[in-house]
Amino acid sequence: MAQFQVVKGAKDIFPEEIVRWHYIEGVIRSVTALYGFSEIRTPVFEYTELFQRGIGSTTDIVGKEMFSFLPDPNGRSITLRPEMTAGVMRAFLQKYPGGGVPAHKLYYVADLFRKERPQAGRQRQFTQFGAELLGVSSPAAVAEVISMMMQVFDSLGLQGLKLRVNSLGDLDDRARYRDMLRAYLEPFRDKLDEPSLERFDKNPLRILDSKNPAVQEIVAGAPKLLDCIRSEGRAEFDRVLGYLADRNIAYEVDHLLVRGLDYYGHTAFEVVSSELGAQDALGGGGRYDALSKELGGNVEIPAVGFAVGMERLIIAMEKQGLFAALTPHGPQVFVVLQDSSLEDQALRISDRLRHAGVSVESDLAGRSMKAQMREANRLMAGFALFVGQDEVASGNYTLRNLKTSEQFSLSLDAIPGVLHESSKQ
Ligand code: AMP
Repeated sequence: MAQFQVVKGAKDIFPEEIVRWHYIEGVIRSVTALYGFSEIRTPVFEYTELFQRGIGSTTDIVGKEMFSFLPDPNGRSITLRPEMTAGVMRAFLQKYPGGGVPAHKLYYVADLFRKERPQAGRQRQFTQFGAELLGVSSPAAVAEVISMMMQVFDSLGLQGLKLRVNSLGDLDDRARYRDMLRAYLEPFRDKLDEPSLERFDKNPLRILDSKNPAVQEIVAGAPKLLDCIRSEGRAEFDRVLGYLADRNIAYEVDHLLVRGLDYYGHTAFEVVSSELGAQDALGGGGRYDALSKELGGNVEIPAVGFAVGMERLIIAMEKQGLFAALTPHGPQVFVVLQDSSLEDQALRISDRLRHAGVSVESDLAGRSMKAQMREANRLMAGFALFVGQDEVASGNYTLRNLKTSEQFSLSLDAIPGVLHESSKQ
């Protein structure tokens, strides 16, 4: 029988790589704390209608990328979450039907599922780090959320990122723009590709972010969405840009930026990295005041958020050598047995040290002393602790620093103190 392989589009993460995840997650936790955000965890699946309503039926995600199934023959269809925002809003509305306190600041690091064609930087199971600010979406709130995202990138040392921003206006602005855009594209209909023709009727704005160079050439001359936005929306967008400039966050206004999801309005943004090749979007987000009502909420919850792909973050950081300083930690102590008849003693010693807060490994396979020393070095242990008949009888043990070869003769109780001293040097 052929050996099993990991499912197409999914990945295993072994300890060598997990240190990178832990490092990034640590930075995310500390930066989000500076802005007062706390973690939310929601279920990995939701009722399918939540995404149909929340993300929009004309989007690629809902149209063709969801993993949906029936839990039982008469049950309601369930979908593995393809993004977090709809689930977070659902959870929020369920807990706070009246809207809660003025601002709820939530972040997540979550596994998501989309039935896309796998390629570099595009998986079927992937992970996003993101944040949602619920209850307020003023220009100051939008700028704060963008700032937090950029501070995470800065703290990780990432360079060469581009922040693109655009305003999508409100529903009326977009309805007027849709008509203008269709009128502009009409004469080019025979030059549009299949996906663009499909979008022409359903969601023509999405033609603007086509990756097809022939389509890009056509949309380059299209009227600009920003020019359709009435003065109030324009002034708000200008305030967002002003706040970004105040914070020295470089940006570029990108008239073709529309984002793939339906619930965005007003400011939308995206960060791209030149390290990522064809899939160059590292993350993006925007304001989504309309979502709460769309999901049946009693009140409108103004909101702004973003999501960043963790796998792409890791690819970009790897290319910039930002993991070089991450050295894996070995155990503090490796217990080396002089004689396998002392195994019981060694287990007791390991146990005592571990309860004193010392990380300990030992050979569990009864191998020779030479093999045990090899294992201690392979694991990058800090010290070797030698356990023989004499040591057990006298209560004095030899502890060897494996880097400097310095040796100490000491009681078990004295070991944690010596390790503590040496960790300070
Ligand atoms: P989206 O939710 O589509 O706006 O995506 C936000 C970010 O999530 C993107 O910029 C990517 O970094 C990441 N992302 C989206 N889809 C995938 C995928 N299939 N595989 C890996 N990362 C993804």
